Amino acid sequence: MTDASWEERALLAALILASLALFWWRFRRVLDAIRRSRPTPDFELAPLGPRIRAVLWEVLAQGKVIAERPLPGLAHALVFWGFCAFALVTVNHVASGFGERLLSPDSGFGRFYFGFVAVWAAAVAIAIAGLFVRRFVVRPVWLGQVSPESGVIALLIFLLMATYLAGLALKDGTGAAHAVWWLHTLSLVIFLPLIPHTKHLHLALSPVTIFLRRQGFSRIPPLTGDEDFGLDTGKDVTRIDALQAYTCVECGRCTEHCPASNTGKALNPKEIVLGLRRYLNESPASEAPLIGPHISSEAAFQCTTCGACEFQCPVGIQHLPLIIGLRRGAVNTGKWEDEHGARLFLNLERHGNALGFAPSERQKFIEKNALPFYDGTQEYCLWLGCMGSYDPQGREIVLALARVLRHTGTTFGVLRKEKCTGDPARRLGNDLAFTQLAEANIETLRGAQAGKMVSICPHCVRTIGTDWREAGAVFEIEHHSELLARLAPRLPAPSVGRERVAFHDPCYLGRYRGIYEEPRRVVARSAQVVDPARARGRSFCCGAGGGQMFLGEEKGKRVNIARAEELVATGAAAIGTACPFCQSMFRDALATVSPAPPRLVDIAQLAAASLEPQPPSAP
Ligand code: SF4
Ligand code: SF4
Repeated sequence: MTDASWEERALLAALILASLALFWWRFRRVLDAIRRSRPTPDFELAPLGPRIRAVLWEVLAQGKVIAERPLPGLAHALVFWGFCAFALVTVNHVASGFGERLLSPDSGFGRFYFGFVAVWAAAVAIAIAGLFVRRFVVRPVWLGQVSPESGVIALLIFLLMATYLAGLALKDGTGAAHAVWWLHTLSLVIFLPLIPHTKHLHLALSPVTIFLRRQGFSRIPPLTGDEDFGLDTGKDVTRIDALQAYTCVECGRCTEHCPASNTGKALNPKEIVLGLRRYLNESPASEAPLIGPHISSEAAFQCTTCGACEFQCPVGIQHLPLIIGLRRGAVNTGKWEDEHGARLFLNLERHGNALGFAPSERQKFIEKNALPFYDGTQEYCLWLGCMGSYDPQGREIVLALARVLRHTGTTFGVLRKEKCTGDPARRLGNDLAFTQLAEANIETLRGAQAGKMVSICPHCVRTIGTDWREAGAVFEIEHHSELLARLAPRLPAPSVGRERVAFHDPCYLGRYRGIYEEPRRVVARSAQVVDPARARGRSFCCGAGGGQMFLGEEKGKRVNIARAEELVATGAAAIGTACPFCQSMFRDALATVSPAPPRLVDIAQLAAASLEPQPPSAP
């Protein structure tokens, strides 16, 4: 419309100014809450490559949105791409109200572009209608309470598309075209201020959030000194935390995959993020405790740190720094009181292991099974971990791995002294206990001049390889699945039949380390690998991580039972694991869910099964 009267132009200008003012009024408060938060101490912009790749894949290509929820994800992607295509015609639309045109319907490019956008308009209209039906008719439980504003936004987007298409069909200069032009304009000026007032704020923030998020998966930020206790009050919230809290689009993907939410616990990762947002809305950078009306301590301490939430989140929110930060704030300031947690910390302090055994038990196990001590000449320093040192099944896994190493001529040795890596202390927020354990172990390893290390426990691998690295100790460590996958061709062909083995991806091996194929390659040597309903990046936690294994009774259904049911449902003859914690969690759970439970076996035991039997020696 280029023939608007001056009154219409004045009205248009007033509406645009009002719309921009309302947008800015709220958006400024959001920016202010982010700006008033403390700078993120561990933030480093470099390297830029992964950040740019993340924006290209997750924002522009909508890769993560589609990959994790294909149908609604594609609908969302169509809306996003349609909006991108619409940017130019929207500027043109506003300019035409003032008698200017950027795109002429008479030019070749103009005709092409209006037609191109018309195709997108039809696609967006269909997609938004589909999303509306999903949200208001199908109503997946993970979306939580349906907000009426979502309906208003969907209606406005639909109106924008319909009026664009109608405007193309109508002859310019007619009364109908005039009315449709105004309807399109009104939809635009109402839509804009709704963005910062609703979850659609992610339209503005998510590209920035994805670009700026902390590098590394589920990384725990370092503390910045003696006065830094974690996330205790609003003063501890960093700008990245605040930015992420305001970016949440409330899609519920994190909740859908959270083992705690799935089994009736108080924890809902979406509500942790929204709780922080509510806190910041009320009192940004205040000294009020973060644990309170908006975020419950019970929820924060139910997390298994499985990382499914961060893995799923389409807008770059990192839940673990937040949840572990809250735990740190409670534990490091002495506010968390839990009988089981206190016993765990005492065991770590007194005995140096999470299970509470005397260290002499480890020594006896090593001597009884003639495990060689590491002297700096062997290829591998075999890290036993608490489970490999003291747990009967964990010891069996270690002995199976030792048989494979001996058979393949791979030299190895174990340390004379070893303490817990500090994994449960670190994930439960006890930085003092973690630091003491890490320092003692680092000293031992440096004294032993340890080179390459291998461990049967993905939690040990993560803590040594990532958490200790932040304390300045760099050790090369890999998980036994990685080593076994390389050694497998040197093992004799298995003589047993090919049973079906359902492989359970441990969270700290799969999502944390990105290792999915190696354990499967080991299993596939002697068996047919079967994936349970949730596998690989979507694997469902066994319930042990984040210190949960040591925190006693769970509320609601037990996580290990829920996972064991899925594993049994595969009908496989055996369940394959690659983590001693998973194995421990499934030991009783399988017997509970099935009268004739499948065999439970670690990949090291599968690899060792083809070797000559050894004389029995109780571990
Ligand atoms: S890490 Fe796992 S248990 Fe913790 S909130 Fe996220 S999905 Fe839930
Ligand atoms: S935190 Fe991420 S996955 Fe969870 S509801 Fe918000 S946007 Fe969705």
